[in-house]
Amino acid sequence: MSLELSKKAAAVKPSSTLAITARAKELRAQGKDVVGFGAGEPDFDTPENICEAAIAAITEGFTKYTPASGTAELKEAVCKKFREFNHLEYGPDQIVISNGGKHSLTNIFAAILNPGDEVIIPAPYWLSYPEIVKLAGGVPVIVTATEQQDFKLAADDLERAITDRTKAVIINSPNNPTGMLYTEEELRGIADVAVRKDIYVVSDEIYEHLVYGEQRHISIASLGKEIYDRTITCSGLAKSYSMTGWRIGYTGSSREIAKLMGSVQSHQTSNPNSIAQKAAAEALAGPQDSVEVMRAEFDRRRKYVMERIHDMPLVSAVEPKGAFYVFVDASQVIGKKHGGVTVESVSGMADILINEYDTAVVPCGDFGFENHLRLSYAISHDMIRKGMDRIEAFLKELQ
Ligand code: GLU
Repeated sequence: MSLELSKKAAAVKPSSTLAITARAKELRAQGKDVVGFGAGEPDFDTPENICEAAIAAITEGFTKYTPASGTAELKEAVCKKFREFNHLEYGPDQIVISNGGKHSLTNIFAAILNPGDEVIIPAPYWLSYPEIVKLAGGVPVIVTATEQQDFKLAADDLERAITDRTKAVIINSPNNPTGMLYTEEELRGIADVAVRKDIYVVSDEIYEHLVYGEQRHISIASLGKEIYDRTITCSGLAKSYSMTGWRIGYTGSSREIAKLMGSVQSHQTSNPNSIAQKAAAEALAGPQDSVEVMRAEFDRRRKYVMERIHDMPLVSAVEPKGAFYVFVDASQVIGKKHGGVTVESVSGMADILINEYDTAVVPCGDFGFENHLRLSYAISHDMIRKGMDRIEAFLKELQ
């Protein structure tokens, strides 16, 4: 057939984090002892109280359509969480529950973008941002932050990148893939530019509970009325409650934007899964001890990974302050020889690690940084140790 398919869809790169994870699972199914530093997916079971709420939803027949933008019960739980944890006042009509963080972002850009509108994305960025923006007809504008800036967008750089087509900037703190956390002062600088230049801020706070050390997570929308009005705060249950497969995300925004997102969603998915919404309400309103247990364990793993990287040749990393990733500079590996063959790129290094060392890592070309790779430490301590031993063996064999 000669019929042309969608140019927009053809321009989208498939998610490499998911592809790497799928490959690791495939190799494991073939009996290989693969260590997966790939997707950021907590290894813990979803806490029992959350699972029980889902089972009760099924047995009690809560298995029908819900309101398109989510149940009143879950919206109330989200409002309470925003108030108590983020110091943000949103009413239920400002909340849209969606099928996961990616879907929330898809809704946001469907609601705010017109064809050709620019969205500023600080690099390193989570690989799905540019693709989601493009799917909504927008144009991603990448602004690279250096290691000297701890990979965080500087207010001046944001201001310089703004044109008369700029509609929004994405801020992701704690950050995937770097684990960096913006300070209040840094966020105030960005908020000031956003207000003055009249652009939206899309604040992706999916890792908000996973913060280590002294610094606290701050929601940019909490820094004043003007920035509150132009921020869409986005989060979800996957990372903090080990609920990746349940697919529940949510946003807090102006009523106007929430209404548009709700309308879009009503045609796209009818509503988020009813059972998962019951589980999410329990996650947010029920006991929070499991969140702290997981956070503390991630912190132990983070310290261990950093110690190991510190002792390895040819690689280095800035200490992450949140999320569960270490962003590793592997530029010195490029040009070294492995088994007589030159390692041409970090992506090539990742291929060697999976094929010859049974270890999956994420090369960060799709995150805007060709010479870095990302390690997710959301896997067990034993697996981490085994994987770090293998990476170290690989590095020591290089010539
Ligand atoms: N967000 C996680 C990651 O970056 C899960 C995979 C994905 O959705 O990209 O690994």
